[in-house]
Amino acid sequence: MNLNLTGKVVVISGGAKGIGAAISLACAAEGAIPVMLDRDSAALGQMEEEFAANEHRYGAFHCDLTDLSQCERAVQSVKENFGKIDVLVNNAGINDGVGLEKGSPERFLHSLQKNLLHYYALAHFAFPALKTSRGSIVNIASKTAVTGQGGTSGYVAAKGAILALTREWAVEFLPHHVRVNAVVPAEVMTPLYEQWLATFPNPEEKLASVVSKIPFERRMTRAEEIASMVLYLFSDQASHITGQHLYVDGGYVHLDRALS
Ligand code: NAP
Repeated sequence: MNLNLTGKVVVISGGAKGIGAAISLACAAEGAIPVMLDRDSAALGQMEEEFAANEHRYGAFHCDLTDLSQCERAVQSVKENFGKIDVLVNNAGINDGVGLEKGSPERFLHSLQKNLLHYYALAHFAFPALKTSRGSIVNIASKTAVTGQGGTSGYVAAKGAILALTREWAVEFLPHHVRVNAVVPAEVMTPLYEQWLATFPNPEEKLASVVSKIPFERRMTRAEEIASMVLYLFSDQASHITGQHLYVDGGYVHLDRALS
């Protein structure tokens, strides 16, 4: 199956680590140009070395997307450097544990800044370029938007809104031939996930308990498996798929975990 991604400019928020890095690497492997927006300069540097060593074309912008003016500047810089944007992958986010009891309205708002506002800002600033390229958006959501997690109202509110905005933007973009979809991961081993595990008194026990509840093969989803779905969704092979929420989670959300 030819994904036909050669030369496509793919902007990936949080593209230097975890799921975002897997998407960046998969883009390069398919001949697309990954453009990483990330605040972790060390991780960006490592990715740059890897791309340079393999003579892949790429872009790397160090920015903190909670500052909305940096979102605008990043999109502007991509257009200046590459002349177009074919794809936006909204991926950067953090499960920051702002709950009802352990939280405050101020921290809730800040959580939305970390997890939601830059998804809108990047889509807004990239709108004209995506219209011109007849491109695509893929939003990374989370299973917590449909299952809840407890103690993380800000993150879950953001992820729920991201699912709703996926449909909303798919409708707004219809006349412009731009497709918008969401990928919904559940349990993927990444630096963020490792950080979360480390908050438990016995991380190994916690991991074993999580994995035992994942129906398909009782294992974590690999970041590369999320990346494969993302690339498929923005490729020509998915040319009639828009407004969809795709669960790449080994059946975590929809299969009956009591059966097996
Ligand atoms: P990760 O390992 O932390 O990687 C995310 C990258 O994005 C990091 O380099 C991070 O930098 C960067 N980033 C975060 N916020 C940023 C901002 N405001 N501006 C610029 N860069 C920013 O995370 P991940 O696990 O790959 O998660 C990626 C996405 O998948 C998130 O939206 C997450 O909610 C979603 N997701 C993940 C899982 C999972 O199991 N891992 C499950 C469901 C959903 P810092 O390290 O400096 O923060």
